[in-house]
Amino acid sequence: MNETINPRPVISAVIPAYNESQGIETTIKQVADILTGCVNGDWEIIVVDDGSNDDTYQQVCALSQLDTRIKGIALSRNFGKEGALLAGLAHATGAAILTLDADRQHPPIFIPDMIAKWQAGADIVHAVKRSRTQDSVGQKAAAYCVNHLISGLGGIDVKNSSDFKLLDRKIVNIIVYQLPEKQRFFRGLTSWIGFNEDYIYFDVAEREGDESKWSFLSLLELAITALISFTCAPLRIVTFLGVLTLVLGFGVASEALWSLINNQTVSGYNTIIICVLLLGSFIMISLGIIGEYVAKIYDEVKARPHYLVKNSVGIDDN
Ligand code: UDP
Ligand code: MG
Repeated sequence: MNETINPRPVISAVIPAYNESQGIETTIKQVADILTGCVNGDWEIIVVDDGSNDDTYQQVCALSQLDTRIKGIALSRNFGKEGALLAGLAHATGAAILTLDADRQHPPIFIPDMIAKWQAGADIVHAVKRSRTQDSVGQKAAAYCVNHLISGLGGIDVKNSSDFKLLDRKIVNIIVYQLPEKQRFFRGLTSWIGFNEDYIYFDVAEREGDESKWSFLSLLELAITALISFTCAPLRIVTFLGVLTLVLGFGVASEALWSLINNQTVSGYNTIIICVLLLGSFIMISLGIIGEYVAKIYDEVKARPHYLVKNSVGIDDN
């Protein structure tokens, strides 16, 4: 398996992995075979173990012993997929960097097409999901709402996009060194960057073995981060609601004043209750929205690192 090692390979494949011991070896072998077909021996695979509790990292270390182009980074705990992806991008040395999931839901058979598009001049090759047959109705509905909300309000197209991408070295340099934000949404950032983009379309393969590694809360957190880091529209909606309430308030106040002047009793206990409840909830929701932005600013100001590396194998840190 071992061939002459190029310190700057043509392609680096970055694979974030969290408790993927069931299939990581198969994924690495499939990706390695396909890359060998495309660029001969000139590749590296970096698996970023995102604080797994199983032997994912040990398996990567064993494979690395057999072929030093297979490399591993173990993070100190579970930082989430965004942190793991960034760790891989920061350590990748290739002229182009491929990002894909460890569970083969991003089918490696599409890699040659992506490399061909990059060789033809594309700086970013996005793999777009053609179907979501594996998702439940709830997951499809949630993905539809979140993606359309981000695309509509944030002005960047993330509909059906995935983290399966091939990025030119200059794009990775921008992501790693010029986008210092702590709240990251990889899919959105790669669309925001611009440059020459190209697309391939794929059907999401069935996840083999166990279940998705995302919990409902981690998905919700990602959706909020994605929305907040690309748009201030929710804050403008709060302002708009404030103006709307003011206009309605003037209307109701004029009516009350008119009734008073004409010595009519101002109708009202129920109206007051409804107004207080409605306005109260508007205010609470608005505070919540503003609070989300403040919390994100607080995280940015703390500027903690996106990830911490505990161990690595095959990575040259000089
Ligand atoms: N993953 C990760 N850290 C996490 C959750 C997921 O590195 O905290 C990895 C996981 O091992 C997989 C990829 O991210 O390689 C996508 O995760 P998953 O397949 O669970 O998500 P889905 O397919 O539902 O998007
Ligand atoms: Mg998956």
